[in-house]
Amino acid sequence: ALEAVRLRHSFGAVTVLHGVSLRVESGEVVAVTGPSGSGKSTMLHLLGGLDAAQDGEVWWAGERVDTLDSQARAMRRAGRVGLIFQHHYLLDDLNVLDNVLIPCRLSGQGDAGRAADLLARVGLAGRERALPEVLSGGERQRVAVARALAPRPAVVLADEPTGSLDRANAETVAELLVSLAREDGAGVLLVTHDERLAAYADRTLHLLDGQFVE
Ligand code: ATP
Ligand code: MG
Repeated sequence: ALEAVRLRHSFGAVTVLHGVSLRVESGEVVAVTGPSGSGKSTMLHLLGGLDAAQDGEVWWAGERVDTLDSQARAMRRAGRVGLIFQHHYLLDDLNVLDNVLIPCRLSGQGDAGRAADLLARVGLAGRERALPEVLSGGERQRVAVARALAPRPAVVLADEPTGSLDRANAETVAELLVSLAREDGAGVLLVTHDERLAAYADRTLHLLDGQFVE
């Protein structure tokens, strides 16, 4: 479902990724762990097509996307790749439900019923009309999870999706991500420091100084 081949990326003189390759199959949950600054978020941004890798390849569902321009990548991403960011990036002017519906409206997949259902599953029933500014950090994170999953993406890229959550909510989010893989056949890549979340994955990769190590 998702493949990266020898990704390399530098910021100025500092090389952050030194040729990272990975493959996430449909229905599979893969965790990536690694110390702060090891390049996890950078890798996720490249895999999600938000930034262009300086070298290497990114493939979504058999299509190479790193060679497309950013607008074409955004079109391909809509509805196919769900992104859960480390910083949640909700739109302040839109209420919770409209935030969750953004990728549905871009892709024509998913609807208000599924959006409300996902919000209920992450414990936010009744908060659909709330604006992000009145939510706690953990509530915002759960909105971001619902938003990523609403259009039933084939690939989910999640950067510390349980980082602001207590144990019970973290378990709920972990189970939701696993069920998207098992029931909808999505490929799920989780970046996490949370060993409890990593334990849900089929396998775990360790990133150290921009390379996977055993
Ligand atoms: P954390 O666990 O703290 O989230 P991470 O593994 O996600 O860390 P990245 O955010 O990928 O780490 O950052 C890797 C390195 O790249 C860090 O040294 C960071 O300072 C640097 N870096 C990331 N983004 C930029 C940027 N836009 N400009 C310059 N340097 C950057
Ligand atoms: Mg990070």
